[in-house]
Amino acid sequence: MSENGRHSPLILVVDDDSTQRALLRRALENDGFQVEEVADGAHVVHVVRRVMPDILLLDVVLPHVDGFTICAKIREDEWSKNIPVVMLTGLEDTASIQRAYQAGATDFITKPVNWQILNQRLQYIQRASENTWKLLRSEARLAHAQRISNLGSWEIDLGGTVTHMSDETREVFRLTEEEVTLETLSRSIHPEDLQLISDARSRALTAGDPYEIHYRLLWSDDSVSFIHEQAEVKLNRDGKPAGIVGTIQDVSERRRLEQKLEHLAYNDLLTGLPNRRSFKAALEHALKPAHSPGGGAVLYLDLDRFKRVNDSFGHSSGDELLRLVASRLTKCVRHNPTDDRGTSRSEDMVARIGGDEFIILLSNIQNTEEASGVAERVLKNVSFPFNINGAELFVSCSMGLILFSDESDAESLLVKADNALYHAKDMGRNNYQFYTEDLNERDQDRYEIENDLRHAMPRGELELFYQPLVSLVNEQITGVEALIRWNHPQRGLVLPGRFIPVAEENGLILPMGEWTLQEACAQAASWIEAQIGPLRLSVNLSARQFLDSNLVIKVANAVMGAGLDPSYLELELTESVLMEDTGASQTQLANLKDLGVRIAIDDFGTGYSSLSYLQRFPLDRIKIDRSFVRDLIQNSTEASIVTAIIAMAHELRLEVVAEGVETEEQYEYLRAEGCDVVQGYRIAQPMPPDRLEAMWRGRNENVPAEPGPADQFERSA
Ligand code: C2E
Ligand code: CA
Ligand code: CA
Repeated sequence: MSENGRHSPLILVVDDDSTQRALLRRALENDGFQVEEVADGAHVVHVVRRVMPDILLLDVVLPHVDGFTICAKIREDEWSKNIPVVMLTGLEDTASIQRAYQAGATDFITKPVNWQILNQRLQYIQRASENTWKLLRSEARLAHAQRISNLGSWEIDLGGTVTHMSDETREVFRLTEEEVTLETLSRSIHPEDLQLISDARSRALTAGDPYEIHYRLLWSDDSVSFIHEQAEVKLNRDGKPAGIVGTIQDVSERRRLEQKLEHLAYNDLLTGLPNRRSFKAALEHALKPAHSPGGGAVLYLDLDRFKRVNDSFGHSSGDELLRLVASRLTKCVRHNPTDDRGTSRSEDMVARIGGDEFIILLSNIQNTEEASGVAERVLKNVSFPFNINGAELFVSCSMGLILFSDESDAESLLVKADNALYHAKDMGRNNYQFYTEDLNERDQDRYEIENDLRHAMPRGELELFYQPLVSLVNEQITGVEALIRWNHPQRGLVLPGRFIPVAEENGLILPMGEWTLQEACAQAASWIEAQIGPLRLSVNLSARQFLDSNLVIKVANAVMGAGLDPSYLELELTESVLMEDTGASQTQLANLKDLGVRIAIDDFGTGYSSLSYLQRFPLDRIKIDRSFVRDLIQNSTEASIVTAIIAMAHELRLEVVAEGVETEEQYEYLRAEGCDVVQGYRIAQPMPPDRLEAMWRGRNENVPAEPGPADQFERSA
């Protein structure tokens, strides 16, 4: 197999002379090569990107641009720079041969072509090129591994004398060459960890066990480094232990990032309260009868007219207000006077679930009176003025409540509490309402959506928009994300946030998702055909689709039906989808990868957030959720999280996309932090395919403004 997965190597022949092309084709096909031809030099770089030949056979003399120029261009192109280029030259003067090499040619062959030699040369180049690819890959891996790991090596003999120590190891221990002894080394080790190390080493020497341990180094300023050490016994010629050889690695940075991301997974950074994820976990726990014998309630709270505070006093005042509200709410539940049964109320939890919305889990609440008691207390406490930067600010809040007994499923409890909150807002704000069955106007709306959605596909009301993804390396559009739209006959354009959840619930997402895959792949293939791109196509998959046992077949059908190379397709999954059931998701992912498609994690940061956890999946990139990007500039916490995510992802060799990039500042920040790709209104909104085409033409360079005449590129049979 060749580098590009083909069974016989593909040669792209560039020659303006049609007789010469025909001759070359016949000879090469005879020798078992596949052949593609281009007559005109103007589009070669583009065609090369498209077909990714194993070798390019390039005539020096061409009508519009000469072969040297083309060769040089190929060497500059990120996608094709490693493809071997063989120049065909009729001029046997050393000057043009030299020029060919200067332009980056791999080899040259003189015209008239000696067919025997041509075959041998190409075979040879093809083999050499395969080896180069392998080498490039392993070199890149090795360099990367060394760079990221800071692996240091060392050896000690039986007497404890240090017999070898690499520079990296010395740097970790902050010693100069003269200072290195076992004693100076031990000096930096955290006293509590000394025993652990000496135990591991003596076990290694007595029982021959290799070991792997983590320990700490303690510095004079009380700072700590975290060390990962692996070692084994070194044997002498007689097979007796002669000492210990090992490696060490300073993993402090990774540790720090991990802790930060873990914290981020469960907490709201602004207020320090638990986030929605923690809250749901606590609620699900509380809903198990054994855990809350006394019953409980959910209280959903929203500050009234918070936007006005933000607009008139600025974001930082808004943030400060949220922090103060958080602390008052926490106090409200801790000293709850309704707790007269003397039971511990430790299960209470106040969480911030976004913007100005908070949610409180009340345990040991048996009836509406008890719940009202808490709500009254909250209303009163929030009504006292807040002192922000010397100014007194008055706010109020609205709340929706529901008792556990009305619903036993966490998700529906939240939806119903939210419904009740909505009602409280309708009732003029600054009050609270309990959920009642007739509060289901919103359910009514949902019902209509669901009904109409059944007809949407057959009636052709669904449509795909595409949003460009731009590389921060060269600022070119390198991909698009397909985003579904619904042209509703009465409601107009309906966004997916409105109908995807409904479709997921009733299963319509399966046929809909299949349609999306087919439609998007066909679009991507037709763009490639029209020489637009190469564009990577991202398609969203919902949880239900991912769990579908026929998913792989559906994806395969979509790419093959469209004639699209699967490597152009990237499927976007959210973290929660992967978290559901690891066994099955591992297999599903492995099968998708075997098919050749790429996998991205969508909305990264909103779910579990442990990149180390995600490491077990074969991922290609992660997309940082737009909530982090949104607050990047105003909020240094968000900024440092984004920085940490980028660093961590790169360490795991994942590409990073930032979503929702709206401003120049965000764009520049992300570029400076080494983010790879951005997507967002700063570049463009999602748009119909024809507008995307126009935008691509206007933006990406070295591409003809009009598609070239059809005969410039002929596909071989
Ligand atoms: P997503 O996958 O996170 O897609 C990105 C969403 O962010 C899109 O919303 C896009 O219009 C919006 N967006 C892009 N740039 C910006 C920006 O700079 N600022 C802001 N505020 N928003 C930006 P859209 O199209 O409404 O889609 C919403 C969600 O619906 C998507 O979120 C995705 O989860 C889901 N979705 C869309 N199409 C499909 C589909 O075909 N299948 C499935 N399963 N889900 C889809
Ligand atoms: Ca997405
Ligand atoms: Ca997303």
